Amino acid sequence: MGTYFQWIADVDATTEEAPQLAAALTQQLVRRGIILRDIVDGAAYGDPGHEPGPRFLDAGKDPGWARGVDGVRVISTREAFWGAQGDCDWAECPRCSHRFDPGAERLLDSLDGWIAGEPATSSCPGCLDDVALPQWRWYENCFAFASLGLWFWQWPELGPLVTDVFREVVGSHRLVYRYGKL
Ligand SMILES: [Zn+2]
Repeated sequence: MGTYFQWIADVDATTEEAPQLAAALTQQLVRRGIILRDIVDGAAYGDPGHEPGPRFLDAGKDPGWARGVDGVRVISTREAFWGAQGDCDWAECPRCSHRFDPGAERLLDSLDGWIAGEPATSSCPGCLDDVALPQWRWYENCFAFASLGLWFWQWPELGPLVTDVFREVVGSHRLVYRYGKL
């Protein structure tokens, strides 16, 4: 048995709006009993996070889930969401669908700068546009670079509820979802 995780990242939320959106997301999930309100040290696989609420099973696809669950980290600053096992085969331009395949790793050269607050654009060889790091689409969602997201540890596979709540808060922003295992 490994450690399972799932995350949903909003790659369109700006750094400025992320804290307010994260607070709204948290409030909605607490209200539905999916997570508890308090942030507890170590609750999310060693990171500070929210413990599961009394109705956390409403968020999953398996109402009979009997295994333990860990907590949920709410992210509201620039973060690299990663997919764990397996290589990331390609990354694709959101505008012209040009693929770095192979060679997608070169986009990660701008990661440290992006975390530090830079735009971190890379020139697309297809359309010659400068594309910001969060906008590239990655093979099997092996990465997302976002200022807003939810990271679930050891939860049953999520059903539509969490995505629906996310949609209510962020509207048409592009959401990236990944189920992974350590
Ligand atoms: Zn392009």
